[in-house]
Amino acid sequence: MEYEQVRELLRKWGITIVPKAAKRIRSYDVDTFRDMAKRTGQIDFDCDFSNGNCAGRAMGGNGCCTPDGCSLSLGYWRKEGGTLDEDTVRRISPFYDPKTGFLEDGMGCRLPRELMSPTCLVVHCSDLMMTDEDKILLAKIRYGDRMSP
Ligand code: SF4
Ligand code: SF4
Repeated sequence: MEYEQVRELLRKWGITIVPKAAKRIRSYDVDTFRDMAKRTGQIDFDCDFSNGNCAGRAMGGNGCCTPDGCSLSLGYWRKEGGTLDEDTVRRISPFYDPKTGFLEDGMGCRLPRELMSPTCLVVHCSDLMMTDEDKILLAKIRYGDRMSP
């Protein structure tokens, strides 16, 4: 979608667009959050697509992303405090489809990791393959700087 169309959608949902410098995502400024989000790309989430579809280890057979869930939640960005920064909205808009959200049929998520919401970054069914550093990184994203010493 065009930025202006997503902006209108957000207005209907009661979400305010704020300047990037004013936004905190789980307590972090936007660039710090994106750096952490990018680092999650190194994590082995132990997802199981051996039969063609996700085994949905702990979550039933539907997998963690559904077209409806993704489109209605704007990839779960709607959960982030009633505001979104303009830069994030501009960057995610071209990837967003009102029917399927950011989900590409048969391909998975269209969003680069640094533009995914905290919810999408931290959801997992298995931590068997994760290092302690991986788990700490996910907890820092999930709980914000309450995790810092
Ligand atoms: S996190 Fe769970 S539901 Fe999502 S793709 Fe991986 S195994 Fe499937
Ligand atoms: S990971 Fe991507 S496709 Fe899945 S719910 Fe989040 S934004 Fe949507």
